[in-house]
Order: sequence, then structure tokens, then C-alpha cells
Amino acid sequence: MTYDLIVIGSGPGGYVCAIRAAQLGLKTAVVEKDPTFGGTCLNVGCIPSKALLHASHMFEEAAHGLAPLGVMVDPPRLDLAAMMKHKDDTVGANVNGVAFLFRKHKIESFRGVGRLKGAGRVEVVGPDGAVQTLETKNIVLATGSAVAPLRDASGAEIAIDEKLILSSTGALALAKTPKRLVVVGAGVIGLELGSVWRRLGTEVTAIEYLDRILPGFDLEIAARFQKILEKQGFDFRLASKVAGIERTGTGKNERAVVSYSSVDGATSDKIEADAVLIATGRIPFTQSLGLEDAGVALERGRIVIDEGFATNVPGVYAIGDVVRGPMLAHKAEDEGIAVAEILAGQAGHVNYGVIPSVVYTMPEVAAVGMTEEDAKSRGIEVAIGKFPFTANGRARAMRATDGFVKIIADAATDRVLGVHILGAAAGELIAEAAVLMEFSGSAEDLARTCHAHPTLSEAMREAAFAVAKRAIHM
Ligand code: FAD
Repeated sequence: MTYDLIVIGSGPGGYVCAIRAAQLGLKTAVVEKDPTFGGTCLNVGCIPSKALLHASHMFEEAAHGLAPLGVMVDPPRLDLAAMMKHKDDTVGANVNGVAFLFRKHKIESFRGVGRLKGAGRVEVVGPDGAVQTLETKNIVLATGSAVAPLRDASGAEIAIDEKLILSSTGALALAKTPKRLVVVGAGVIGLELGSVWRRLGTEVTAIEYLDRILPGFDLEIAARFQKILEKQGFDFRLASKVAGIERTGTGKNERAVVSYSSVDGATSDKIEADAVLIATGRIPFTQSLGLEDAGVALERGRIVIDEGFATNVPGVYAIGDVVRGPMLAHKAEDEGIAVAEILAGQAGHVNYGVIPSVVYTMPEVAAVGMTEEDAKSRGIEVAIGKFPFTANGRARAMRATDGFVKIIADAATDRVLGVHILGAAAGELIAEAAVLMEFSGSAEDLARTCHAHPTLSEAMREAAFAVAKRAIHM
């Protein structure tokens, strides 16, 4: 049997691509090596982390957030096993949802490791070692990413055992709350998972190579966010690099001793911890795909593609974490839709200038488009409008006044180039900015749009007013 499309990998890139292709009438199959569909995002990424972030936030609210509202409760007790069950149930519902959608759209699935075997052929090696070869007109590689290894001062890779030395996967499944957690890397994943455990009672120290947290985000937002996290109990060691991790003690008493030094080498220190989370990034996953034999070009580990997601090998396309661009689920999904549409003869397209990023802490951080630093480095003259949540009535009613909205507009045209939000529900509010920017909107367009009162979204409008120095409530 010949397929129109075989997708290798069923993460948000692959499964969304398969569904869109089937909707457009392409005979589609998916090859997935893991027992469940959904990839990193649904199984060990976005979804389980958000389940634990929500549950741990509820725990912290019950402990500290309710009394100021006049809701008196006894100090909450943690049932970690029940919290983990909530996470597992959430994952289960989502991965089963993908299986349901595959059935609904008559997408065939093959369990096993997929490998390119020449033009239009994919070999699948099943979990029992059985090999079958599938024929297809087109192939989309959507094999995602894996945890980037951390190397010690001697260059040796630090082994992750998911008990004492953890990747994000292990940090989502601890059976006991660690007393002290060292997080290596103060990026999105480190700060989200660090927040989960801090809320549940862990002392969290984050070691970061750069002299700031949240690399890639607007510097002013990151600096304010750092202060808020410090108030919450995070201990940051910035401009510092890990030299090595030693294990001491055995069994229950086993600990990790993390040695680190300042990046300039002037100072060094050690921290003992009962868990270390390595969160220094992710690398494209291309193992066992047969890329070399098929002649598929890679650049710095990522599969090289053109604007239409085509690799250098005819009929082979790639999307998601395994190609250039931000490693985000919605970026992978958008690419999945676009490549399916291209294969069906339509004009699939992704606007890389308007891909939001969200950190799901409390407060949240959300951004879309250029940072102030990006605009300056490109020599663009900007007009910036900011509005603090302390001046927003709804935020006061919710006792969620930390943070602000920052809108960066082109000083000459007023077109919005970037929006950055630190605050409760920032991850929801950023969608308004993405829609505005997708339509090439101006700060004036946003300022003239009526926003319901009282809502957090009024802070968006006020920041847009502030671009022209006419905020009402400030
Ligand atoms: P993946 O989701 O990695 O899926 C790839 C799939 O391919 C996997 O199922 C894998 O088993 C399969 N595969 C690989 N090789 C083969 C092969 N040869 N044969 C068959 N199958 C194969 N992003 C967000 O946007 N929002 C978030 O909140 C967010 N939170 C995250 C939290 C954590 C802890 C982590 C680790 C990541 C998070 N991400 C988040 C990133 C997000 O998970 C990824 O960007 C996204 O999963 C990428 O999708 P993908 O389809 O490219 O790859």
C-alpha cells in the first residue's frame, strides 16, 4: 500500500500535521516509537508540567493566598501521590485524545522506530524487533528534541539517573518533595519546575551561566521577574557555571554536591542538594532516523529545511523541534499545519515574527515579537508604553498586582513590534497581542478597541494608550 504521507513522530508537530493532511484528503500514516502519542509535549513536557504548576499553585494559595481574602482554612497538607495522579490523569486524557483523533480521521499508526530507507520508503522497527517497510509519496520528519547533556569541567557528560540527577522528565515524577533542589539553568523549564517544587516546600537554588534569567526574553521583564521570584524564595547564582556534580552517601542519604564557579573564574563554591535538575536546554533528536544514509543535510544538529519545510532530499520534509526556530509546541503545530497544506497543494505559511512564548509561573511571563533590545540592535526607533497591574482594578480585586504590560511600537509608524507581559494570566493576554500583530496592528488600533471592565486585559489597552503617553489610570 502506498501512502500520500508518512509522518515520523507524533508530538504536536507530527500529530497535528497528520490530522490536517487527513482533513485535506491525503492518505496518512504516523510512526511513533513510544507507547503513547503526543510526544514530549503531551507526555513529559507542556501538559504534565502545567498540571503540576496548577496543582502546586493551588497548594500555595491554600497555604498563603486565601486568608487575606477572608477565606480561613487550616494549613493544607500535601498528598504528593494524589497530585501526581492528577498529572498522570491529565496526560492520559490528552494522549488518548490524540489516539481518538487519529481514529476519527482514519490515520493509520505504526508503533516502532521509523527510519528513512531511500526515496518514498520508511522502515519501521517494532518494539519486538519486527521490521516492515512502508511506501509513501512524502515523508515528514517530526522527531522532536531531547535533553541537552551537561558537561563537567573536564568535558565529561554528567549522567542523569532521574533520581538524584534529573532531567525535566524526572523532575515531573518525584515520589518525595526534595528538601533542597539545585536547578542548573534559569530558563523557562528550570523556572517552571523550580516553582513547582518551591511551592511544595523545597529550597530552590538556580545556577545560571548568563548574568540574567530567562535568556531571550525582554531584559526589563526578566529583571523584574527575578526580583519577584527571589521574594518567593528562589536563590539565584547568576554568571556561574557548574564544574561538576559529586554523589555522597548511599540509599536514603544519597546527596549531590554541586561545584560551581563564577564564569570569570574569580570565585567558586559548592551546594549540597537532594536533587539536581539539569535544565540547560534541548537538542534536536535525529537518532536512528537514517538521515546520513538518506543524505539529509543537518546544520548544528538540526535538519536543514527551506521555506516550504523541504529538506534537500526530494519528498522529505521536517518540522518542529528538529528544525530551526523556537522549540515550542505551538510553533511545531503551526509548521505541521503549514506543511500538510503545502503537500495538499495549498499555500501553507508560518509567521515566525508572531510566535508567543509563555512561562507558566505565578506571575506568568508572556512575550510576542521583538524585545526592546532586539529593536535597538536593529536600529529601529521605538515608542514604548507600559502599564502596571497595580493600577488595574481587577488585578487589585484578585490580589494579583505583580507585574506590568510593555508594548513596543515603531516610533515612525506606530505598528506594534513586540508585547511583553509579566502578570497573572499573561499567557492568555498575549493572544490579543498576537492577533493584533498578525494583522499588522498599531498601538492606536489596540487603544481604540473597547475592552471589558474590570478585566486584566484593560492593562493591555492602557499600555497601548501609554505608547502615545495618554494612559488614563496612571
Ligand atoms: P516532540 O513533541 O518531541 O515529539 C517527537 C516524537 O517523535 C516523540 O513522540 C518521539 O518518541 C518520536 N520519535 C522520535 N524519533 C522517532 C523515530 N525515529 N521513529 C518514531 N518516532 C520517533 N512548549 C510549549 O510550547 N509550551 C510549554 O508549556 C512547554 N512546556 C514544556 C515543558 C517541558 C518540561 C519540556 C521538556 C518541553 C516543553 N515545551 C513546551 C516544548 C515542547 O514540548 C516541544 O517544543 C514540542 O513537544 C515539540 O514538538 P515536536 O512535535 O517537534 O516533537
